[in-house]
Amino acid sequence: MSEGRIFNFSAGPSMLPEPVLKRVQSELMNYEGCGMSVMEMSHRSKVYDKIITDCEANLRKVLGVPDNYKVLFLQGGASGIFCALPMNLCGTNKKADYIVSGNFSGGALKEAKKFLGDGAQEAGTTKDLNFTRVPTQDELKLDPEAAYVHVCYNNTIYGTKWHYDPETGDVPLIADMSSCILSEPIDVSRYGIIYGGAQKNMAPAGFAFVAVREDLIGDEMGITPKIWSFKTQSEKASMINTPPTFPIYVCNCVLEYLLEIGGLEEMKKRNVAKSSLLYDYLDSQDFYTPHADKIDRSMMNVTFRTPNDELDKEFVAGSVEKGFTNLKGHRSVGGLRASIYNAMPYEGVEALVDYMKEFAAAH
Ligand code: PMP
Repeated sequence: MSEGRIFNFSAGPSMLPEPVLKRVQSELMNYEGCGMSVMEMSHRSKVYDKIITDCEANLRKVLGVPDNYKVLFLQGGASGIFCALPMNLCGTNKKADYIVSGNFSGGALKEAKKFLGDGAQEAGTTKDLNFTRVPTQDELKLDPEAAYVHVCYNNTIYGTKWHYDPETGDVPLIADMSSCILSEPIDVSRYGIIYGGAQKNMAPAGFAFVAVREDLIGDEMGITPKIWSFKTQSEKASMINTPPTFPIYVCNCVLEYLLEIGGLEEMKKRNVAKSSLLYDYLDSQDFYTPHADKIDRSMMNVTFRTPNDELDKEFVAGSVEKGFTNLKGHRSVGGLRASIYNAMPYEGVEALVDYMKEFAAAH
């Protein structure tokens, strides 16, 4: 890592790959000889048009987005998409199933209720287990007449992840992939829609991406604002108004970097190595208690606690002295959380495990 940079275990916005930051720095004052930075250029210029077109093409390439899906870059973050989903998919069918496996899937359901009332249905939850795992197929009560089934694929706060795709019959599955997108290969065709905020593995904060199967576009409610209309945005290539130009540019740099290092197969290898190092250590000792059940552990967000709240606090204070930051768990689950997204180097996780060993030995 460059001089002075620290291991940042933030759940998002989070670390970006150093080669990307350096590229952005080198292109900042005068992007490709056009005399200005990307931040300063018109979103209608030829130069910017190439950036956003390349970003979409590269996202399609890296993720393997099939041709019958539209890719959109929208504002309002993943929270905006929580609202966009019922507006865009429930023009006629006012029912949607939500599986609540953590905070954000619960938030998505709450927003959907504003548009659908009781038509937005909780189709299963592990709330009683404090979200230590996601529901199993036989714990789900799915409505075959729902417009869609919504899941949050990686639960950022609880450190769990879906390790299977729920069987939803003919009902399209929609996945919030905010905190696991680009961490490993996925088969996009299994989902009607995938979406997420960009601020973890893709880019700085500022937009959400949506990949939506074409046949799901069009049944929108009359109240749908045009900025959140999948139909209008796909017709206008995400450019009905000024898009978040700079984050989209950085996203393209991230995607080009991923292509250079070998794509998502390589990324997965690195993420498995990092997360295994941490989980293997957690499983080998009894000072720290992991939050998530083994079966549904997240590769991106690792949640655990020390024997008590006081020691959790001491752990966080000590970690800052070591040059780490953002290891405090989310307030709704407490304890500790290490978010180890794509850009966290292996050395960062090694250093964290060394510190954990040292702290456990001292207490
Ligand atoms: N879904 C998940 C899984 C998240 O982790 C987050 C944010 N951390 C959100 C949704 C909300 O995203 P945003 O802040 O972009 O609205």
